[in-house]
Amino acid sequence: MELNRRTLLATASAVGAAAAIGMPALTTAALAQTAQSGKQAPSFYRYKVGSFEVTAISDGSNSFKLADNFVRNAKRDEVEAALKAAFLPTDQLTNQYTPVVVNTGSKLIAIDTGRGPAGEYLANLKAAGIDPKAVNTVIISHFHGDHIGGLRDKEQNLVFPNAEIMIPAAEWTHWMDDAKMNAAPEAARGAWQNVRRVFGSIADKLTRFDAGKEVSSGIKSIATPGHTPGHTSFDITSGDGRLIYQGDASIMPYFFVRNPGWHVMFDSDPQQAEATRRKLFDMVAAERALITGYHWPFPAAGNIEKDGSGYRLHPSVWIPTL
Ligand SMILES: [Zn+2]
Repeated sequence: MELNRRTLLATASAVGAAAAIGMPALTTAALAQTAQSGKQAPSFYRYKVGSFEVTAISDGSNSFKLADNFVRNAKRDEVEAALKAAFLPTDQLTNQYTPVVVNTGSKLIAIDTGRGPAGEYLANLKAAGIDPKAVNTVIISHFHGDHIGGLRDKEQNLVFPNAEIMIPAAEWTHWMDDAKMNAAPEAARGAWQNVRRVFGSIADKLTRFDAGKEVSSGIKSIATPGHTPGHTSFDITSGDGRLIYQGDASIMPYFFVRNPGWHVMFDSDPQQAEATRRKLFDMVAAERALITGYHWPFPAAGNIEKDGSGYRLHPSVWIPTL
């Protein structure tokens, strides 16, 4: 059929006539039937730190019912008020997981690895064009399962077969102590066994580092104990750029950045974790450094400033071009 003004008018009137007698108009019906995708875009996000290129890789999220003791030292109504102030549901929490990969120009360095086969880290890593086989170094902040789980796949093979794996010496000392594992409550023992599953067979291949040392050119470790005994953050510097990888020094920012004195149920030494958090945030705020928080909302980076008795997070804005 030749498409001209006359046939267009004829089509338009046919559609109108169909609607008038109660038949679905074909053109609008076809548009309305486009299926919803029900899926988010692959979640990775890039930004520059000096000449380094950082890629935040989402391992997805996990939603769960708000437990009364999630914040150990705040009342439930205070916790719910903090959620309300952040325009979030007050009966459930959503925890996100965001490891980063740093391309220094000469090395590809993954910091933390997500939860493992159950998470979305590997799929998003691939979507970002990063081949796990090309990763030179993996640096671990601490030994909780949501940070070390991604070192092994479903078949227990190493996900980064060519990488040097660097771990905080203090974490190794703590978690590999069998006496401590046996003294831990039954419910907590899974975390200790998981450390043995991930690291047991490669113990002699791991590089242990002490806090305060440069672990790779431009990346220095900072002792930030409290969440776990050997919890470590990283100071990433290139040219004028500076990024602090805080790990789990704070979990959800609307709780623990706003209220640095609040203690999350996962901290092994809450008082020490609070002292660590305040010291780290004071430094980051004073130096105007960028900071990335593993459990902050994606892309999990921003700046923080002092605000009353707490701090305020200014999340990074999306930059379409680097
Ligand atoms: Zn964590």
